Amino acid sequence: MKGKISDKALEFDKKNLWHPYTSMTAPLPVYAAAGAQGVYIDLEDGRRLVDGMSSWWCAVHGYNHPALNRAVRRQLRRMSHVMFGGLTHRPAIELGRRLVGLMPEGLDRIFYCDSGSVAVEVAAKMALQYMQATGQSRRVQLATVCGGYHGDTWQAMSVCDPVGGMHSLYAGRLPVHHFAPRPQVSFGAEWDPRDFEPMAALLAAHHSTIAAVIVEPVVQGAGGMWFYHPVYLRLLREYTSKYGILLIADEIATGFMRTGKMFACQWAGVVPDIMCIGKALTGGYMSFAATVTTPRVAEGIGSSPPGVFMHGPTFMGNPLACAVACASLDLLESSDYGRRIPQIESALHRLLAPASSIDGVRDVRVLGAIGVVEMERQVDVAQVQRMLVERGVWVRPFGRLIYIMPPYIITDRELEQLCGAIVEVISRP
Ligand SMILES: *Cc1c(COP(=O)(O)O)cnc(C)c1O
Repeated sequence: MKGKISDKALEFDKKNLWHPYTSMTAPLPVYAAAGAQGVYIDLEDGRRLVDGMSSWWCAVHGYNHPALNRAVRRQLRRMSHVMFGGLTHRPAIELGRRLVGLMPEGLDRIFYCDSGSVAVEVAAKMALQYMQATGQSRRVQLATVCGGYHGDTWQAMSVCDPVGGMHSLYAGRLPVHHFAPRPQVSFGAEWDPRDFEPMAALLAAHHSTIAAVIVEPVVQGAGGMWFYHPVYLRLLREYTSKYGILLIADEIATGFMRTGKMFACQWAGVVPDIMCIGKALTGGYMSFAATVTTPRVAEGIGSSPPGVFMHGPTFMGNPLACAVACASLDLLESSDYGRRIPQIESALHRLLAPASSIDGVRDVRVLGAIGVVEMERQVDVAQVQRMLVERGVWVRPFGRLIYIMPPYIITDRELEQLCGAIVEVISRP
């Protein structure tokens, strides 16, 4: 059906459909996707683009994957969904078993959610309910670092970066939490103990009212694509344990090998009390997430009335999502990504290096299968995206950042095209 999407259909989209973070009255341009295969997205007008985004960290194995398609089809023949209240099913149990085997030691109590933001809400509710149930009812606040991103729902939004996030828009209406400065020492730099001092001071001053600290381990994603030093995370684990505060690791973006480890917490060798996973969990096939905690937290919540955890999404444990997640974990385990991701990392280093010397570029950084070019100024998204599409690549810049996190199946040649296009576009005066 190439070239067949009508102007009328696109007009409808423009007038009636909201796209993420855009204006309804002056929307950014959109491109019509007709299909996607492997590392390519095919547009309705016949153009084929190398995907640099994995559809926001999700499609790690590429699109239209035969094994994932098969898993969905097989499950579809049995049942696409039944309620999880009072019923259970093999895909949910199988996925749970697999996750317990994969998670850092001790994280084995699983709550299935329908999206990453909900997983963060659930984590916050777990922390608050745990404190309530264990006689620590003064502990009602969260603490975090600046520069974070944890989703778009209410509690999640309240721990996003207070300046770059949505706080100003909802000032006075969001729950108020504690913010330490963004960790300054970057991944790979020499650790400087002064970096943790503000967080240490914050916890010392306010620990009696803090239920949990929530952070994205090592990689801050949508809050600025910043890679910080794992020692920061290790100290955070030590201090939260010392004060009896729960540590929530939001691995929604970093989980499933994106940084080169299965989970980014593993760079610091820490085990959080609660971990949120999502995005790549289903290999990018559908919206699904989980909040995983320890027996101590689960039993704490169960130990005093009402004893139940008060959350239960309609689509909790969706069988199609569980089945495709199992197939995605099979691919992760049987693949050679453990070898391939370090290769992608060195290719990104090499191919993005020329950007460092271009006027207007502030920083170039790479970790695992993530490459970031940080500009001095705000990027004109519509213009830069058009120029990249003309060069056959799909990248979605935001703020001052042009960044990529391609599917792990990308080849060196496709990486060359992707990075080459970025370097070329930002070199233009
Ligand atoms: C994307 C993201 C979320 C929110 O996930 P959704 O599925 O979009 O609700 C939360 N935390 C992090 C770190 C993310 O990258």
